[in-house]
Amino acid sequence: MEPQRSRYEMAAPVILVIAVVAIVFQHLSVMGELSSLKKMIVPIHEWVTCEPQPNSIGEPTLAEHPSLEEELTVAMNGVPVEQFMAYGSPVQDLRKEFAYKYEKAHKAKIEEIGHCEACGITAKELKRRGERPLETHHVKSCKVIFDEGLDHSLVYDPANLIVLCRVGGKGCHWKEGHFSRSWAESNPNVRRDSARHLKQVQSKL
Ligand SMILES: [Zn+2]
Ligand SMILES: [Zn+2]
Repeated sequence: MEPQRSRYEMAAPVILVIAVVAIVFQHLSVMGELSSLKKMIVPIHEWVTCEPQPNSIGEPTLAEHPSLEEELTVAMNGVPVEQFMAYGSPVQDLRKEFAYKYEKAHKAKIEEIGHCEACGITAKELKRRGERPLETHHVKSCKVIFDEGLDHSLVYDPANLIVLCRVGGKGCHWKEGHFSRSWAESNPNVRRDSARHLKQVQSKL
């Protein structure tokens, strides 16, 4: 009986090794299946949970300058509708008119100036570098125009616009136009500060 028992004892580790190898193989094949399953699940998951980008639904991200429409919403807040009715146009129509005239002034201004008024970079160079195109910024902001009861045509007056860049994301528009602080805050001395900066840039050339 003795030798038989020892044969069993010898067989035990072999069986154990075979069992471990079998388990590992089983595990590996399951892992293989899982990873191929994962490859299928991930695109479906991404497709189902893909959220629209802020811009595609027209909402500004933190890095965005508010649109004229948004600026006007803030500026006109608290201004009685009757005041606009006096112009023979309800607020909505007036905003559309502003937006239309501003768009024209914005294009004309960029065409006329052709470079950032604070650092001198040209529209062409921005395009070459893959940067955002030149923007126009209100010298007297919409909020100031409405709060101080200034002539509303300043909203779309090219003389009230300054051309600034968005190099590196926020660029001179953010620095000179908004104190590098907040898109809601407007620098009333943007012309002076931009001209000063341009002089510094040019003196280094
Ligand atoms: Zn610039
Ligand atoms: Zn601005």
